[in-house]
Amino acid sequence: MADCVFCDFVATRRRHSQMVYEDDCVLAILDDNPLAEGHTLVILKSHHPDLTTVSPTDAAEMGRSVARIGGALKAALGAEFIYIASIGEQVRHVHFHLVPRYKGDAAGFGHFLSARTKLQNGQAIAAKIKACLPI
Ligand SMILES: [Zn+2]
Repeated sequence: MADCVFCDFVATRRRHSQMVYEDDCVLAILDDNPLAEGHTLVILKSHHPDLTTVSPTDAAEMGRSVARIGGALKAALGAEFIYIASIGEQVRHVHFHLVPRYKGDAAGFGHFLSARTKLQNGQAIAAKIKACLPI
């Protein structure tokens, strides 16, 4: 779809160094402005403005990928908890935010009020996560 930042990414892979996972259904990349190290976006490859139009098969596949990537974030980065959020108001293309919480971080909704930073060392963080994902 024209003018959709995630459709553009799926088509161009312009931030491939930040990619942590890809299969037939989804791509996962590190967020440019993470709330915490390893903040990852799991993006459905096909354009749907929200989950209501996604096929049950793709929704289930996406759920499996979210769970696997969340497990990899814990294993790779030592996160205590992984928040999974889908707000979908800014970019109307189905995606989930996986936001790690580390020891000492604010818990609950307070974690989402943390200042977002500029992604640094994205390639190294992505490599750590990829190493914890089964092929
Ligand atoms: Zn799109």
